[in-house]
Amino acid sequence: MRRVLITGASGLLGRPIWTACSSVGDWQVTGTAFRRAGQGVAKVDLSAVDTIPAFLDLYRPDAIIHSAAERRPDVSEKDPEGTKRLNVDATAAIATWAKRKGAYLIYISSDYVFDGTQAPYMPDSPTCPINTYGLSKLAGEHAIRDSGAMAALLRVPILYGAVQYLAESSVTVLVQNMLNARGTGQLLPMEHWATRYPTLTDDVAVVLRQMLDYHFMKGPLTGIYHWSGSEPMTKYEMSLVFAKEIGFDPARLVPDATPPGSGASRPKDCHLDSSLLESLGMGQRTPFAVAIPRILEGVKMAPLRCTRGRAEHDTFYPEKVAKNRSS
Ligand code: NAP
Repeated sequence: MRRVLITGASGLLGRPIWTACSSVGDWQVTGTAFRRAGQGVAKVDLSAVDTIPAFLDLYRPDAIIHSAAERRPDVSEKDPEGTKRLNVDATAAIATWAKRKGAYLIYISSDYVFDGTQAPYMPDSPTCPINTYGLSKLAGEHAIRDSGAMAALLRVPILYGAVQYLAESSVTVLVQNMLNARGTGQLLPMEHWATRYPTLTDDVAVVLRQMLDYHFMKGPLTGIYHWSGSEPMTKYEMSLVFAKEIGFDPARLVPDATPPGSGASRPKDCHLDSSLLESLGMGQRTPFAVAIPRILEGVKMAPLRCTRGRAEHDTFYPEKVAKNRSS
C-alpha cells in the first residue's frame, strides 16, 4: 500500500483532501497540522524548516500533497518573513526531500500568482503577483521547479467548503457579516468589484485524488495545472445566494464597485483555465447554489471544535434554515 502525506491536513482544503485520499483503501494517509493537530494528524511546525527532513524520514511517504500555507493576504502583508518561512522555505525543504527520496509532490498554489488583468489564465501564462501572499506562492512554485522533484503544481482560486466556523473561508465569512448586521436594519455594502470563481474544497480534493491516481497508474503527471469553479461571482453576488438561504432581506445588500481600499492589493479577475486537467479526464464541479445549503446546514450541526473563530453556533439561524429546508 502506498503512503501519502498531507500537510495542512487540519485546514479548509486539507480536511477534504484527507477524506478523498482515504475514501478508497489503496492509500495509507497521514497528515500534519500545527494548532489543530490531533486525531491522527501529527503536530509539526513547518516554519522550523530544519526539522522537516527528519520528520519526513519518519513517515517516508511515496507522495506528498503540500497544502499547508499562510493563505491570508492581509496577514502575509504584515508578516512577510513568517509567510516566507512557511510558504517558501518549508516548500523548498519538502521539495528537496522529495527529490532525494523519489517521492511525488503535489503543491497547492493560488490564482494570486497573476495580476488579474489578463484573464483567463492558462498554466503557462506569465505570472505577476501583486501582493506578498501571491509572491510567496510563486516563490514556492519556483522552489519546487528548482529542486528538480517529480512534482505537479495545482493552482486554485478562492475556496469554500465545510467550515469549522463561518470566518474560516472568505466566502462563508460573508454570512457572518450578514448575521452580524441582522436586526440592525442597516444597509450592508458588499464588494462588487473583483470577479471570483468560488471553488468547492470537496471538488478540489477529488481532483487531487484523480491527479494522484493518474500519476501512479497512467504515467508521470508533472508541471502546472489549474482547477477552478466555472461561475463568475462578486462577493455581492455570492451574498445574494446566502441571503436566500438565511432569510436576509436582499434589498439591504448594496453592491459596492469600488476597489478594496485597505489591506493587501487584490487582483480583479484571475479566472483560471482548467481545460488541461479536463483534457486528461479529470475534474468535478458542484454548483454554488447546490453546495451552499449543505455547508450552512453543516455549520449549524457541527460541534464546536475550533477556537480561532467566533463560536457562532448558539447565535446561528436554526429556525430560518430549517424553514427554508422544508419549503
Ligand atoms: P487554511 O485553512 O488556512 O489551512 C492552513 C493549514 O496550514 C492548516 O492545516 C494549518 O494548521 C497549517 N499550518 C499553518 N501554519 C503552519 C505551520 N507553521 N506549520 C505547519 N502547518 C501549518 O488554508 P487552506 O484554505 O486549507 O489552504 C490550503 C492551500 O490552498 C494553501 O496552500 C493555500 O495557499 C491554497 N489556496 C487557498 C485558497 C483559499 O481561498 N482558501 C485559495 C487559493 C489557494 P493548523 O490550522 O492546525 O495550525
